[in-house]
Amino acid sequence: MRAVLSIGSNLEDRVALLDSVFAEFADQIVASSPVYATPPWGVEDQEEFLNAVLVVEVPETPLQLLRRGQALEAAAQRVRLRHWGPRTLDVDIVQVEGVESNNPELTLPHPFAEKRAFVLVPWLSADPQAKLGERPVSALIAELDPAEVAAVRELGRMEDLR
Ligand code: ATP
Ligand code: CA
Ligand code: CA
Repeated sequence: MRAVLSIGSNLEDRVALLDSVFAEFADQIVASSPVYATPPWGVEDQEEFLNAVLVVEVPETPLQLLRRGQALEAAAQRVRLRHWGPRTLDVDIVQVEGVESNNPELTLPHPFAEKRAFVLVPWLSADPQAKLGERPVSALIAELDPAEVAAVRELGRMEDLR
């Protein structure tokens, strides 16, 4: 199945932590965005994030893919102190092609994806034809606050930041 992952980090060695996801999916990555520096979203009194989006093609079910992402978060020693607070690594499933789910353990598409410039801007860069359900990601970006879109700043490709 084809899935879109949004990954983020705002603690410790952010590039290395994001790179652990690139490494995990190495030969299953169909497309990847550059790495972006982004302001914290939701809870604003915390450090800047690095974010990226990976489009992957994997043999697992959606729940198995969620577990794979959670294993990477655990390997990054992620601790949950505060909702939307600082974290070493976050791996979210933005969308799985053709799958909708209201399961709180795995909601698809991800409920906040369409409101988040730090998800949509990298995603569009990874896949200029990207659609969230029926809606082009480019159109969703056009509906966001332009200041939020502009605040998502491209740093470079993972291979150049390592
Ligand atoms: P947000 O989901 O708003 O980005 P968050 O990433 O900080 O917030 P977490 O604490 O990482 O939230 O995850 C909370 C729970 O969300 C996880 O235990 C997971 O089961 C659930 N979840 C539901 N839908 C998804 C999804 N599409 N991708 C990843 N986790 C999800
Ligand atoms: Ca998240
Ligand atoms: Ca998460």
